[in-house]
Parts: sequence; structure tokens; C-alpha cells
Amino acid sequence: MAQAKHITPRAKDFSEWYGDVIEHAQLADYSPVRGAMVIRPNGYRIWELMQRALDEMLRATGHRNAYFPLFIPMSFLAKEAEHVEGFAKEVAVVTHTRLKATGKQGKDAIAVDPSSALEEPLVVRPTSETIIYAMYAKWIQSYRDLPLLLNQWCNIVRWELRTRPFLRTTEFLWQEGHTAHVDEADAEREARLILGIYRRFNEEWLAMPVLTGLKTDSERFAGALRTYAIEALMQDNKAIQAGTSHNLGQNFAKAFNVQYQTAAGGLEYVWSTSWGVSTRLIGGLIMTHSDDNGLVAPPKLAPVQVVIVPIWKTDDEKNQVSATGYRVKEDLEKAGIRVELDLRDTMKPGAKYFEWEGFGVPVRLEIGPRDLASGQVVLARRTGGKAPVPLQEATAAVTKALDEIQASLLAAARERREKNSIRGATKAQFLEFIKGSGGFAYGGFCGDPACEAEIKQQTNATIRLLPDPEFRSKEVPKTCMWCGAPSVAEAVWAQAY
Ligand SMILES: [Zn+2]
Repeated sequence: MAQAKHITPRAKDFSEWYGDVIEHAQLADYSPVRGAMVIRPNGYRIWELMQRALDEMLRATGHRNAYFPLFIPMSFLAKEAEHVEGFAKEVAVVTHTRLKATGKQGKDAIAVDPSSALEEPLVVRPTSETIIYAMYAKWIQSYRDLPLLLNQWCNIVRWELRTRPFLRTTEFLWQEGHTAHVDEADAEREARLILGIYRRFNEEWLAMPVLTGLKTDSERFAGALRTYAIEALMQDNKAIQAGTSHNLGQNFAKAFNVQYQTAAGGLEYVWSTSWGVSTRLIGGLIMTHSDDNGLVAPPKLAPVQVVIVPIWKTDDEKNQVSATGYRVKEDLEKAGIRVELDLRDTMKPGAKYFEWEGFGVPVRLEIGPRDLASGQVVLARRTGGKAPVPLQEATAAVTKALDEIQASLLAAARERREKNSIRGATKAQFLEFIKGSGGFAYGGFCGDPACEAEIKQQTNATIRLLPDPEFRSKEVPKTCMWCGAPSVAEAVWAQAY
């Protein structure tokens, strides 16, 4: 496999590499609007496949999709004090509804019509809690209306200053779930259920292993009682928050007066949750699996799972290998596999291999005249390895290869994560680790926000989460890794995107 000339190697500059992979795989492009990206068909297809899989999981657990408006009255944001503080610095505000011709030339030919000023400005949703609770106040009357389990797939705008494709963009796509419950226990159960679904989705579909756990107060969602998160470690040993699930308590219910009549006849505020994952997951997928030749897509989310590349010199050979190519394609499609047959005669096979590798296609089938003569095709894996398989067994061999690649990507990512994690570190070891290669550092935490802030200020590392029992170290830390005070919980630190 020749290394792509225009993909910067990871070891040289990870950030450049990330941009090159996206460009080479045609996943996204920069747009005329600063900070907002264009998702190209190759990238959008990954999102559609993600949507389909996650949507099915949410549906299977009783959630239904709805759609709420893009615009939210500005006053709504002010109703929940923490919420407005959390989002005030990054909202886009609509103040006028019309433009008018000025009679001038060029860019001055139109201007905002001052007479069209809105009485109350609208914010472009940075998240939809407020507008959704305003509606829930109408829809929820009695305990019989609960739980209310809604989700919406939509776009969101958060005015970010420093943006990176997929990871942080001014406008992004996501799903946001919003549920209302009779009591705290039911809301907590929901928040945890979703965290489990997110974990399963990330591991089974993206082949991206995640830690699950609780956010500290300083990292929790603005207006939430508790925020749970999934965190993954990228190849540069920086973490990404891949999804969050919030138990909102009664904060929004009180702000929007969402009350219900209890079975006993009393009046009670609902308990609610909200949760989301976004197109940021595509960034996580890229940085988890891809290599110096470009994108490596996990088979379950690969827009093209198999590319068939026939090889020929003469027209006669072309007819033969093409006919076989069509037949193999049809068989694979019948098995539900996404296939492309590359019959372009403007490109040499080597150049085709190179291009499809950059697109992240997990399996390539090469069919040459000599293969045909011996009744075989050559199966090459994007992750390495190439072997002939009998033509009649091509579909079975491809199916097996896709399953194996999917499983091995998850295993490799998990192994890499564990190799780049340290446990029970002292302050000195932590400093060396974080300022060196980096990764997940497990250690005791005193629970003091001032201590947490000092660590962040000195090392740029934040507490990614307080891990769930499954991920905790065998030895329970007794003292805070940083200040030496008694530890109240084990924490996982990392530098994050
Ligand atoms: Zn401390």
C-alpha cells in the first residue's frame, strides 16, 4: 500500500492528518460561512447509517420522534437561570425579518429593513429544552400522560469561535431526546438507560470503545441535576465526549410549570431528562480508526462496504472480468452488502485501490483474468491482509471479513485505550503522563472544584468523568491525586477536544 502523498502522517501532525483524511475521503468541506461545514455525500451517508441504527435502538425502547421549531423566543432561555448562563455566550439571535433594496450598487444594494424589527428577538436553538418544556406544559396533565418519551433529529447552532470539522462547528446535526417522568427514580432510570444505549451504539456500530460515568459539577450540563457521559480516547490520546445524558431533575419543569396530577390527586412537577449525540461522532470515528492512507470506516457504517475492481488489458478480458464483477456484485447485494463495481477505464487498478482506501472501504475484491481462470477472486482488507478466495464462496468470505474487521477495530481501539491509560498515579506521574504522551489518567479526587480548576489551569486536563464501577481501578484511591486530601471518588483525567 503506497502512502498517500497528500495525507500528512499522524506522527508528523495529527491535526493536519485529520483534515487531510476528511478532504481525501470527501467527507466534508469548509463553507463560505466561517465555522459552518458542508457535509459531503460520503460523510452524510455515514450520518444516515448512524441515524438509522440509533433511531431503531431508541424506538425499541419506546421513544418516538417529533419536530420542534428552530426558533425559540429569547425570553424562554432566561427562564432557567443556569441554562441561560451556559448558553448566553454562543447563541445566534434573529432580530429582523426583512431586507430592503437601497438603490445602491454591489453589496450595499440590500440592507436590513429597520421597520421589520421583531418585538421579541428569537434565538436559533442551541438545544431545545426550553421550547419543548413550553409544549410539555400543555400536553402533560395527568400521571397517565407519563412517561413522555420524545426525540428529535435536527440541527443546532452554537456560535463557536474555534471550530474543527465534525468536532466543533457552529451548526451541527444531532438527536436530542427529551423525556418527562413521574418521579426522580424513573428519570434516573431513563438517563442511565440512554447512557447504556449510547455505549452499545458506539461500541457495536462505530467500533469505538467508551468509558461511561458521571460528570463533575463543573462539567455538567447547564440546568441539569446530573450529567452522564461517554468518553472515547482518540489516536492522539485526547478524549472526546461522544454523548451525554442528563437527569434534569425538576429544574425545567419548575421554570416552565410542567405539572401533572398524581394518582393520589395531588399536583406535582415532572422529572425530566435530555440526551444527545451529534455529527461529532463522525470525527470520533475518523480519529479512532483511520491511518496514514486515509479513512478506515467500520464495516457497519461504511457507505461502501466492498469495492470490486476488475483488472484487464484487452477488451476480451474486460468483458469477462466485468461480467463476473456484475455477478459478484449482485450476489453481495442480495446478502444486504453495500457494493460498488469500479469499471472506470480512465484509471489504472493501483490508482483505484488507492482512492478506495482513502474512502475507507473495508474490503476490496480484485478480479483479473488469471483469477478467473483459476475460479477465484482476491480479497484485500483495508486494515491489511490479502488472500484469494474461491469465486463461489465470495459472498461468504466477504461477510466473514466484514464481521472480523468490525470486531478487530473495536478490539484494537480498546487495546490502544488501555495501553494509554494509567491508574493510581501520583501528582508527579500524572504531570509527566499528561505533558508527555497523554491518555486517560485514573486517580483519586477530593471533590473540590478549586482543585479541579487548578489541574485544568496547569495541565489543560479536565475530569472527563467519574467512572462507573465497571471501569474503576481495583484499588480504591484514598487521597486526591493532586492535593492529597481524602478522595471522594475516582476520576479520569485527560486533555479533550
Ligand atoms: Zn484535590
